[in-house]
Amino acid sequence: MNTINTIQGFQVWRQGISGSLGFVPTMGALHGGHLSLVAEANKMCQHTVVSIFLNPTQFSLDEDMGTYPQNLRLDLEVLSPFHVDAIFLPSDSEMFPKGFSTFVKETNLSSVLEGKSRPAFFQGVTTVVNKLFNIVQPTHGFFGEKDAQQLLIVKKIVKDMAYPIDIIACPIIRQDNGLAMSSRNSHLSKTELESASIIYQALQDGKNLIKSGARDAQAIREKITRTIIQESILQIDYVSVAEADTLIEISGEIPNNILISTAVFLGETRLIDNCSYSIYPSK
Ligand code: AMP
Repeated sequence: MNTINTIQGFQVWRQGISGSLGFVPTMGALHGGHLSLVAEANKMCQHTVVSIFLNPTQFSLDEDMGTYPQNLRLDLEVLSPFHVDAIFLPSDSEMFPKGFSTFVKETNLSSVLEGKSRPAFFQGVTTVVNKLFNIVQPTHGFFGEKDAQQLLIVKKIVKDMAYPIDIIACPIIRQDNGLAMSSRNSHLSKTELESASIIYQALQDGKNLIKSGARDAQAIREKITRTIIQESILQIDYVSVAEADTLIEISGEIPNNILISTAVFLGETRLIDNCSYSIYPSK
């Protein structure tokens, strides 16, 4: 596999590449969700680049960066069946050398949901994604709907900063029991993995309530909450019913397009999941 560790090395390689280039940024510990993005990039673009970089700027001091799963050997192995032209694998000091002092901050969508619970998070994400875009110079960027707020923010910075990049949203890949695939799932025991599947069930319950005619946002939140707390080992951080485009929390009746999302703790492990819902889906 063509792995490149330095920015300069990547830029030299990039100069020899023409045509469409799909980029899949990841933090490693790759699973089926990541691989679905790579498969989509392979389908849509002539070239595919994957980055593996555990971004320190998106973790706060009390968060789990030290225990975040990492297994480069396995990552390279699971990528081998795909057509990956280059894997960008920079070190921390390559991306954020001593004295680094420039940050990219989206100031609206980043302040709610994940941004409220994890204040340092989105500035870290937007800074690293901007830097990676500048290095990789992709024509297409592939991001998972699993991180719906992140996807929305990446689309917004691409628009605001006029990056000539198409952002492609890829559906959430789930385990058989409905649990959204996540690198953090590897921290969970077999019983915890089973308990965590209630998160997906809860989202489905919320959706089904709307399908049965309910329109009150608080009733939907309460329904989801009631399902999640059936599993006593889960601690809810938030359950949100928000406008899909603005992420403004809804009080009263839901509009046509909503994002239902939740974050829960299972011990030290924080899991997020979501689903979008349109009362009148566009054809
Ligand atoms: P991460 O390595 O967690 O930063 O994720 C890298 C990319 O993979 C992001 O665009 C995520 O949204 C996406 N991703 C992570 N898990 C899933 C999943 N279960 N289904 C689809 N995309 C995912």
